[in-house]
Amino acid sequence: MTRSFTFGGLPMRVLFGHGTLDQLSAEADLLGMRRVLVLSTPQQRDQAGQAARLLGDRHAGNFDGAVMHTPTEVTERALETVRAHAIDGVVAIGGGSTTGLGKAIALHTDLPQIVVPTTYAGSEMTPILGQTENGLKTTQRDPRILPETTIYDVSLTLGLPVALSATSGLNAIAHAVEALYAPDANPIVSLLSREAIGALARALPAVVDAPGDVEARADALYGAWLCGVALGAVGMGLHHKLCHTLGGSFDLPHAETHAVVLPHALAYNAPAAPEAARLVADALGAADAAAGLHALALRLGAPISLAALGMREGDLDRAADLACRAAYPNPRTLARDAIRALLEDAFHGRAPSGAPAREQAR
Ligand code: NAD
Repeated sequence: MTRSFTFGGLPMRVLFGHGTLDQLSAEADLLGMRRVLVLSTPQQRDQAGQAARLLGDRHAGNFDGAVMHTPTEVTERALETVRAHAIDGVVAIGGGSTTGLGKAIALHTDLPQIVVPTTYAGSEMTPILGQTENGLKTTQRDPRILPETTIYDVSLTLGLPVALSATSGLNAIAHAVEALYAPDANPIVSLLSREAIGALARALPAVVDAPGDVEARADALYGAWLCGVALGAVGMGLHHKLCHTLGGSFDLPHAETHAVVLPHALAYNAPAAPEAARLVADALGAADAAAGLHALALRLGAPISLAALGMREGDLDRAADLACRAAYPNPRTLARDAIRALLEDAFHGRAPSGAPAREQAR
């Protein structure tokens, strides 16, 4: 069959390395930033302070109230600070929650953003913003949301706690897995997805064993970058829909939920996307993709059951209903009973159905 695809590259500037944060003020100058607001969570005030010092007299204020899922009331408070200090650019230093706040500010103001990611979530590479208002999470895509510049500094990830390193890394792998069977998949995104899964599958066990291993951290961050590009480039399917539902309606934690659901979502889709499953298995060095992902989660000590994340068994029916409510592209048709069975497997932390029970992690 003749190949046919569409590829649209997103405009972004990326710096990658060790100690790259030192280039922050030069990057701010390139974007014409003179009065910069530095964003962080309360837990990452120290790293925000480091960014503020590097910005020198370009630094005009800090906002350290970023929280998970970008609640609109937090964005409103940050926007007040933007107005009060005549801010003309934002620097977001942290994980997906802090990046999300920067994106929300940019959506309202079109201010330029520099993101300094310290997890593997990948949000910095996408024009997508998820926000919550009155407990309801909505997602939108807009060119204003895409950060102008991302500075990946491996040294800032050395202190990422082991548990979050594992789940955030699996969250990243989920982007690349779904990119391989996306309806708008294309050769460039497939190449980088395959590369990303391999890099993370090699790096994460080493990170968990020795969190200060700079080479392993660099490989993990490199893989996470590519996963973020894949997430921003093509549409996601069942896995992201399930995680969105579980996070938004049952308040389950983001990265952990991705870690638990991924092997099950892939086991569900693999029969309808055999080439993608083969590429994932190949990248993992496993005989079966879903079993390989399950084995990787076990090797990393990541949670493997929704029960462990606080999900209640009585909510599985509603979760299955919500996940099947709206139609969206997915390689395998959404069958409510099969999705319910998938969630049940994930709830109990079973090996993914249809996958060989045992697969050796490398
Ligand atoms: P997070 O940003 O909420 O970070 C979790 C905690 O870890 C925070 O307290 C944070 O301060 C801390 N932390 C982060 N990096 C650290 C480091 N290096 N050292 C020590 N502590 C550190 O978690 P996350 O998983 O990165 O992001 C989750 C959020 O990102 C969710 O709201 C999710 O919806 C969003 N997200 C959005 C996209 C998108 O494209 N829109 C993509 C991925 C994730």
